[in-house]
Amino acid sequence: MANQRLTTGALLRYIRGSTTEKAILQVVGIKSIESKTDDPSNASKRYRLMLSDGKSTFSSCMLGTQMNKLIETESLKENSIVRIDRVMVNSIDKQNGRVMLMLYELEVLQSDSERIGDPVALPLTDIINNNGASTNRLETTNNNQAPTAAPAPAAAPSTTNVIRQGSKALPTLDDRKKPNGDNRFAGKGGNSIDKERIINIDTLNPYMNKWTIKARVSNKGAIRTYENARGPGKLFSCDLVDQSGEIRATAFNAECDKFHSMLEIGEVYYIAKASLKAANRQFNTTNNDYEMTFNHDTIIEACDAGEGENIPQVQFNFIPISEIANRSANSTCDVIGVVKSTSDMQTIVSRASQKEFNKREILLVDEKASISVTLWGQQAEEFDGSSNQVLAFKGIKIGDFNGRTLSCMNSTLIRQDPTETPRTVELRVWFDNEGKSIDLPDLSKGADVGSRQTPIKTLSQIISEGLGLGDKPDYISVKAMTTLIKKDTAVYMMCPEERCGKKVVDENNGSYRCEKCNKTYSNFKWAYMVSAEISDSTGSQWITVFRNEAEALLGVTADEFGNHKLNQSESIIEDIVRKAMNHERIFKLRAKADQYNDERRIRFTCVSVADIDWPSHGRRLIDEIKQMEPTQN
Ligand SMILES: [Zn+2]
Repeated sequence: MANQRLTTGALLRYIRGSTTEKAILQVVGIKSIESKTDDPSNASKRYRLMLSDGKSTFSSCMLGTQMNKLIETESLKENSIVRIDRVMVNSIDKQNGRVMLMLYELEVLQSDSERIGDPVALPLTDIINNNGASTNRLETTNNNQAPTAAPAPAAAPSTTNVIRQGSKALPTLDDRKKPNGDNRFAGKGGNSIDKERIINIDTLNPYMNKWTIKARVSNKGAIRTYENARGPGKLFSCDLVDQSGEIRATAFNAECDKFHSMLEIGEVYYIAKASLKAANRQFNTTNNDYEMTFNHDTIIEACDAGEGENIPQVQFNFIPISEIANRSANSTCDVIGVVKSTSDMQTIVSRASQKEFNKREILLVDEKASISVTLWGQQAEEFDGSSNQVLAFKGIKIGDFNGRTLSCMNSTLIRQDPTETPRTVELRVWFDNEGKSIDLPDLSKGADVGSRQTPIKTLSQIISEGLGLGDKPDYISVKAMTTLIKKDTAVYMMCPEERCGKKVVDENNGSYRCEKCNKTYSNFKWAYMVSAEISDSTGSQWITVFRNEAEALLGVTADEFGNHKLNQSESIIEDIVRKAMNHERIFKLRAKADQYNDERRIRFTCVSVADIDWPSHGRRLIDEIKQMEPTQN
């Protein structure tokens, strides 16, 4: 079958706003994406395509949901040739010229094909630099928009919510000129704002009629599109703060167009006549019982220079990293710390949904503890932690996968080196002088942050120093290799009752008996209790490894391990065990003596398993060598 010729140059023409052309393009990538909008009715799956015109590719192409079946029936797949019959340009981040092509109608001309040409991704700068004439068209919906200044530097994409201090993304009131009237956006009827009647955000409620708030936009999300029974729509949300508190505000469709371009992160506005309702806790992480919706009567007016100086940039309620251990999973918090290390970006496929995600993990530290923070999507793609910057997170979600972790959400506000808190300087000084070379308990590895940093000992030192023989347990870290794992007894059948955790007896008739609950269940959970021998150059020791630590050691969940056991997949289990034994790790152990018949034995329980942080291990060895050197008098 002869290859169709592609319409060279069509993608750039589309992006610049000429959307009437019915271009023939090749689909060079398909991603199914998670639908994340504030509108719960939009639960449908969406596909993002990367299209090629033979010369260039463009990856922000959203397929209309009515064409999902083309992909699901494999009529449309990678390398398919399509004709675009109806396409629209949606500006998703005007400052940086980011747009999305919305594909409303297309026809698959050829389902199977070879890759045509050697196309390269369209450089974004090209699009930005050349969009002078087309900008206005992209913004036709914002027809009462004041003329915008030159695009802000691409260094601060607002969709990632990262504000880099010192960049133009956060203009100070002084360096902006505010022409009178140009930045006023009165709603219907041109009502002006009653500036005498300004109330605090924390007193707003749905039963008030006339009010005006004076608030700073602390966070603004990108415009997101959704489809529900009434057709397609769009929305954006922003967070507003004043000295009393904060509130989330959302604008749909016409108000979305009107206010998204107007409201700028960091700027102060008078706002009146918006609707108030109870906050939807599923999406709203602000510390307010209510949330705001901008409607057609809403009036927003920019503050004149100097008028907004008393309004804080953002309301942070920081908790120390160690405190996260005491917070419940899935709640949110505000936290600040130094980026100690950053992982490479990973692409993972969710097992449940088969969706692909980019993620990157950073290790965030403060004076007492460290924790793993996951960045997703664009945040992960663009993050560079090489300067060990101070990062503040507002509304970040607490997870409990392998101990405590933090995960950014769409609504999480990230501030780099924030100036409004003294913690930034405190952390900077602490990290540069001390923090960068010490290992702190890592909450993500189940660290017991109540105890101080544990000393690294050899296995023979543990015995010679009599550790574990006292009344209180001793905590020790050991750099060791796993040399034996009792795989046959590694998992047991545990009571399915959430708070029980006892072993159940398999009655071999499909039911499982828990003696503690005194009940018989039709199911059970697999749980780890692994006996392992660890060895270093001075000796070896049997230890017991439970749950999260065993999962970290073996690299699979107890469920997976248990099911391999049920299926008698000996070779898979052998493989898992072999992999777990192939390298050294840092084992943090709890050593405690107990009486066994007439004998006092020390039991070693693993409280964390971590890969070796070689740079800090190296620094520790250097310190030890220095201590061996004779002191000069
Ligand atoms: Zn039980």
